[in-house]
Amino acid sequence: MEELIKEIEREIKNCRKCDLFKNRTNPVPGSGSYKSKIMLIGEAPGYWEDKKGEPFVGKAGKFLDELLLLIGRRREEVFITNVVKCRPPNNREPTEDEIKACTPYLDRQIEIIKPKIIVTLGNVATTYIFKKFGLKVESISRIHGKVFEVSTLLGKIKIIPMYHPATALYNPRMKDVLREDWKKLRGLL
Ligand code: URA
Ligand code: SF4
Repeated sequence: MEELIKEIEREIKNCRKCDLFKNRTNPVPGSGSYKSKIMLIGEAPGYWEDKKGEPFVGKAGKFLDELLLLIGRRREEVFITNVVKCRPPNNREPTEDEIKACTPYLDRQIEIIKPKIIVTLGNVATTYIFKKFGLKVESISRIHGKVFEVSTLLGKIKIIPMYHPATALYNPRMKDVLREDWKKLRGLL
């Protein structure tokens, strides 16, 4: 299993399947435990992630660490990755073409890790994962914190869409919404 994960990392490091490779400092394949039953999926690397090659190491990542504590997990104990593995210029949303080029990596990570729980962080990840598993895509404001169960070839997976932690950075009320959603996750573990 570790070999397969490492192989994907190697491929991502050499990947030029979309134009995002041109501006990257480091690609960000993902980090944490590939033995975890929980996978967190964000949108794309930002400034610090691109510098360090690790997901969620900036301000949003700090808040994510706090949310993880609410479910009694350190970041090393879950697998964290993004829909797109290289940073889009100025942190713009990844385009459809970029998502299409990059998500075979995410699909393979999901196949190898076989998570029981997938937490999608924000709209981009939620839309991709909902479509992938045949769920009806709705606005995150309607479905955040709800549990969607799908039966797949990998077994049953619970999908929980969450607001992106960055949306709460300068908004204390949103922080509380996120904290409440994450506390509900605790009961599923
Ligand atoms: N935002 C994301 O969606 N992913 C990261 O890795 C960092 C910030
Ligand atoms: Fe390859 Fe994905 Fe990076 Fe595009 S974003 S170059 S598809 S790893």
